[in-house]
Amino acid sequence: MAQKITVSVIKADVGGFVGHSDVHPALLNRARELMSAAIEQGLLVDAYVTHAGDDINLIMTHRRGPDNPDIHQLAWDTFVACTAVAKDLKLYGAGQDLLTDAFSGNIRGMGPGAAEMELTERDSEPIVVFMADKTEPGAWNWPLYKMFADPFNTAGLVIDPKMHKGFRFEVHDLIDKKRVVFDAPEEIYDLLVLIGSPGRFCIKSVYSRTTDEIGAVSSTERLSMIAGRYVGKDDPVMIVRSQSGFPAIGEVLEPFAMPHLVAGWMRGSHNGPLMPVSVAQATPTRFDGPPRVVALGFQLAGGRLVGPQDFFADIAFDEARRTALQMANYLRRLGPFEPHRLPLDEMEYTTLPHVMERLESRFEPLQPIRTEL
Ligand SMILES: [Mg+2]
Repeated sequence: MAQKITVSVIKADVGGFVGHSDVHPALLNRARELMSAAIEQGLLVDAYVTHAGDDINLIMTHRRGPDNPDIHQLAWDTFVACTAVAKDLKLYGAGQDLLTDAFSGNIRGMGPGAAEMELTERDSEPIVVFMADKTEPGAWNWPLYKMFADPFNTAGLVIDPKMHKGFRFEVHDLIDKKRVVFDAPEEIYDLLVLIGSPGRFCIKSVYSRTTDEIGAVSSTERLSMIAGRYVGKDDPVMIVRSQSGFPAIGEVLEPFAMPHLVAGWMRGSHNGPLMPVSVAQATPTRFDGPPRVVALGFQLAGGRLVGPQDFFADIAFDEARRTALQMANYLRRLGPFEPHRLPLDEMEYTTLPHVMERLESRFEPLQPIRTEL
């Protein structure tokens, strides 16, 4: 029996360069030093450090399983060390995603986002790590549904016997803190009732119904739910396994050819298109956006991360970028009007309620309308 390997992708925004657009190279270098030291100590098998917009992404492999205190401590210490560099350079929002001073064993609920997956490496183990900026965890609902449940996206659901039974979706209710599991294709209508509302319901993980193996996992932290106030957008990450019983790489990437609308642009308060970009293009500037997604492919080899392949650098995504920019132009013209601005209940954790408080005393009751006929 092959040894199990865990892929942990843990991310945080601990200081933007400049504003909310990018990560300063000095922070990435500091993170790389600490990752290299952890590899030398044997804590990690391998690591890759990158960024999507203003978020640092630590892509790590190890043999300790998900939610391991030592791995989470390493990620936390790395973000603390990067925060020190960010403070020295007076970068924007230094340490903003570290919501507590004391680490307590698990990074979940402390600010950073985490997606972790334990697997037994197949003969060939291609994975794709998705990283988004200026959006929230529900942004993965639409592409995950397309990848694992829509035969118009994923031909394998129709023509590959190893996929024909479909996939199992674990959905989290981020408001009431509950989970529910659906089998696709039988229950896709029920599934869509929930995941079509991505501000509340998020697909946490997807499993093969043929092998019971995990196919995808996402980060589902909502910073505002943790902090009770707006402290930056969640900017989620996701790991997807590909080929041999899972969607092919092209089927995994295909949903992003249609930029769907996601929440999180500008002050976390606006909807915008999720634009697929290379790492080099992941520096949101237009109205601090539009929201971006990066996809890095790796082949796992005994836990080593062979890669990355920067998938959205391909010209095949040029049209998607053009569409996203047209959508951005259209939405920007709406200014402070919905549906560019988020609906009121989604603005609860922003600065808007303070404005509403100030208006409170100016409201007068309307004359009651006559109801008797
Ligand atoms: Mg960000």
